Amino acid sequence: MSVLQLEVVTPDTTVVSAEVEMVVCPGVQGEFGVLPNHVSMLSALKIGDLRYRVNGKDEHVFISGGFADVNNNVMSVLAESAEKAADIDTARAQSAKERAEKRLAAKDDKVDTVRAESSLQRAIMRLNIARG
Ligand code: ATP
Repeated sequence: MSVLQLEVVTPDTTVVSAEVEMVVCPGVQGEFGVLPNHVSMLSALKIGDLRYRVNGKDEHVFISGGFADVNNNVMSVLAESAEKAADIDTARAQSAKERAEKRLAAKDDKVDTVRAESSLQRAIMRLNIARG
């Protein structure tokens, strides 16, 4: 049986390097699944939960967007940042969430709203993934 090799890398480190049974990935146009022998593809990713299955067990990884490339049973995910569920610092994500909420509530012209919204989305997604 063919296997799929999943590599999730950030500029700092390799977060996942494993043979997996399947991956469900947050594409910008919606979630998509990848099984062994998938056709070659390249997709932009959004902030979300990347799920992969090993020995019938699902693992969850936060990713902050990026790109996924599938080719020849290797799926490479390049993300700005990524953390396995167990490595997410929930206190840090909670502080980031509160900081972003305050910035958005301030309605101050100097606040970069797009940046604050993106920070809020990352924090909420991290909290959801960490809490299962
Ligand atoms: P913060 O404001 O707390 O830095 P952020 O969303 O701006 O949050 P990122 O720019 O996505 O942070 O990530 C910067 C680095 O910090 C990355 O290496 C990322 O993996 C790590 N990181 C950020 N938040 C957390 C968290 N809650 N738990 C674990 N690692 C985190």
